[in-house]
Amino acid sequence: MLSSLATIWTEITSLFMSFILLFGTTVGIFSPESTNGAESYFDGNIKNVIYLIGDGMGFNHLKKTKNERDITLTMDTFDFKGSSMTRSLSNAVTDSAAGGTALATGERTYNGAIGVYMNDPLGAFSHPKNITELCMESGMMTGVITTDETSGATPASFSAHSSDRGNTEDITEDQLSSGIDIIWGASNGVATRGDAEENGFTYITSYIQMMALPEGSRSFAQFTNALWTLEQSDERTPNLEQMAEKAIDLLDDTDEGFFLMIEGAHIDKHSHSNEDEMMTEALQEFDRTVELVLEYAKADGETLVVITADHETGAIIANDDGTYSFTQGSHSAANVPVLVYGSDKIINDGEILNNYEIPIRIAYTLGFTEEQFPYEVMVA
Ligand SMILES: [Zn+2]
Repeated sequence: MLSSLATIWTEITSLFMSFILLFGTTVGIFSPESTNGAESYFDGNIKNVIYLIGDGMGFNHLKKTKNERDITLTMDTFDFKGSSMTRSLSNAVTDSAAGGTALATGERTYNGAIGVYMNDPLGAFSHPKNITELCMESGMMTGVITTDETSGATPASFSAHSSDRGNTEDITEDQLSSGIDIIWGASNGVATRGDAEENGFTYITSYIQMMALPEGSRSFAQFTNALWTLEQSDERTPNLEQMAEKAIDLLDDTDEGFFLMIEGAHIDKHSHSNEDEMMTEALQEFDRTVELVLEYAKADGETLVVITADHETGAIIANDDGTYSFTQGSHSAANVPVLVYGSDKIINDGEILNNYEIPIRIAYTLGFTEEQFPYEVMVA
């Protein structure tokens, strides 16, 4: 069984290699210099990074939410606003695994892949480093929090390496041995208290336990699925905003700074099912989290905030009467927002980036070098 699996993988790998040889090419992408001459807020003194990912969140998701809820969004107040092209190496329309991998590692890969190269899916030779690992190397504290299951494609891309997003056990094992300080999300039924404690984590399952975590502790949370919305949150389960506030409080504890990835997963989930009310509620909760993060960054003065999405979901269109409608139940190839506070080195106003350029620019803004986080990437 094992040897036939290995043969299949060898064949698949060589197929990928042929694909790369035929269509792929490697490029160096940019010089990490500011190109618009605008003054950086902090003269390059970025110590902390908060990277927010609204899964499935396109430009029209923001417009639809404002329109239907009659609200303004904190996301609209960001100084640097551009967009990202989200395709994967294998498909014009990406999934959250390849999308998350590009946003985490600076590498495009095939749909379904978590932090692995397309031509080496099992990591036989190597796998790309994710930005969480990079930050850990320099002594920064790190966290990955989500309203999805902890092993979901987006959080997994920032904390694991696996040939397939469905390898829940492998991904969980990787996460537990990753050295990350905070991994919080909904339970996947795989990670146990024993596994977490063996790897030096405090295992938590409720809001009260989360709030009781002391400074300097490492924690692994398996909450219920209720954590996506404020209304469903209670003493038992925190929402995204509450998780973000506590995570920042725990991570903001060293001179080396911290890296925190925050995912709002339900913008995507409720876009797949075209549920207007639920999607806009999930987006509003995500924006409340953005507001909290932005307030922290403004007060702190050394924190970079980057917001983007892995892809658009639902192909929302603008109607003639000023309303917005879903037109499909799947991901689309539409570009997604990239919003930045704290540095002019990530994106210029109106600039269109490839998704994989975002973590590379974050890394260079933090002072990491090309040797530590290479910008040689495969492109289709
Ligand atoms: Zn999706």
